[in-house]
Amino acid sequence: MRIEIVGGGMVGLAFAIALKRSLPDAAVRVLEARVLPSGAPSPLDSRATALNLASRDILASWGIWSQIEVLGAAIKAIHVSSRGRFGSAVIEANDVGEPALGYVVENHHVGSMLLKLAADYGVLLEAPAGVTGVDVSGPNPQILRGTAAPISADLVVIADGADSPLCHQMGVDMARRDVGQRAVAANVRFEGLSLGTAWERFTDHGPIALLPLPDDVAGKQRYNLIWSMHPDESRVLEDANDAEFLQGLQRAVGWRLGRLTDVGRRTAWDLSRIAVREQVRAGVVIVGNAAHTLHPVAGQGFNLSLRDASRLAQTLAASHARSEHPSSLRVLRRYESAVARDQQETTQATDFLATLFRSRGVFLDLPRDAALAGLDLLVPLRKSIARRGTGKGMELVHEVGR
Ligand SMILES: Cc1cc2nc3c(=O)[nH]c(=O)nc-3n(C[C@H](O)[C@H](O)[C@H](O)COP(=O)(O)OP(=O)(O)OC[C@H]3O[C@@H](n4cnc5c(N)ncnc54)[C@H](O)[C@@H]3O)c2cc1C
Repeated sequence: MRIEIVGGGMVGLAFAIALKRSLPDAAVRVLEARVLPSGAPSPLDSRATALNLASRDILASWGIWSQIEVLGAAIKAIHVSSRGRFGSAVIEANDVGEPALGYVVENHHVGSMLLKLAADYGVLLEAPAGVTGVDVSGPNPQILRGTAAPISADLVVIADGADSPLCHQMGVDMARRDVGQRAVAANVRFEGLSLGTAWERFTDHGPIALLPLPDDVAGKQRYNLIWSMHPDESRVLEDANDAEFLQGLQRAVGWRLGRLTDVGRRTAWDLSRIAVREQVRAGVVIVGNAAHTLHPVAGQGFNLSLRDASRLAQTLAASHARSEHPSSLRVLRRYESAVARDQQETTQATDFLATLFRSRGVFLDLPRDAALAGLDLLVPLRKSIARRGTGKGMELVHEVGR
């Protein structure tokens, strides 16, 4: 079986590993358009991902968790609050009976671990190798690469990122919801020592997420910031100098974490939720941001894709064991229904977080405060939310292969 994966981002690599592990005889190749980055960015310019406990378990089953864990920061608690209001809640690792609620790891570490593991499994990687189209008109899908001869495959996994140009080219319909916000991401430094707490702060303008990063070599605490807000406000902050930016952020997050001292390179983009209306065709699966782009506030996109990758690998292995053709539409539809509930619930939970606290006004603020205060007091509710956030609510094994 010949599997071609288009896109060598974290998701494309994760699918390559999961598929090669479950179908060791398959020839798996990743085609990545960009030259792969090498080396590490400066500590204030890196990007990071919060890996939840379900992701930890998947990466542990792949044998790389212990190496990833030492490079990350454990989230021991999540502090949820609302600016200028009385309600707040703390979700603790104890609520799920685990040493941590999740782990924040910089993307260059996750990426290089995945690259190395993929190579160890014998996955081929070609970069730079841009794909210009996928032709699904024949019995087998064909990868098009400009004037070069098309490549025929048994299965093409499309992982080319958000608003996937390849999906557009294939005429795949997309549901798009403009969130009406922009997000600014950057690493920031606070004075003092890290407590391993992640902060979700809801302001009148939109949510702020601060994820703890490992202290840098100078022993200073770093946080990864994602700040969503109205596009006009975002543009003001994007144009602000570092001192003005830090001042605005300090006003928004308060002083619980101490004084903000530094900010790294800022990136900003318009937020929209995009989901393709069909994730499979005969011989083709669409995955990762190409299939579902979520609001980053809840940090679920990569976590969800890792679970998708496990489910696809399990579905294909089960069909192979039954002598079915693993890339037939029938088998791929089985994968689509195996991931449907998890994808739907994760998307809904993320949307809920992103929009609940956006509106303002007395009548909306009151239930918001009550919800946060109630969340702190109602232990069973808090535990159930904490469990959901770990991504472990969904059993991976039982849902596939039916
Ligand atoms: C600020 C921010 C914070 C986030 N935080 C979290 C978090 O804490 N936890 C979490 O789980 N998720 C998080 N996410 C979401 C997560 O980053 C994404 O879900 C995930 O990175 C998507 O990866 P991907 O590989 O699908 O897409 P991408 O990373 O976009 O990769 C797509 C790849 O395909 C390549 N490509 C594109 N076109 C072609 C082509 N034609 N031919 C060949 N190659 C091509 C591109 O060069 C690229 O390398 C966050 C997202 C953002 C923006």
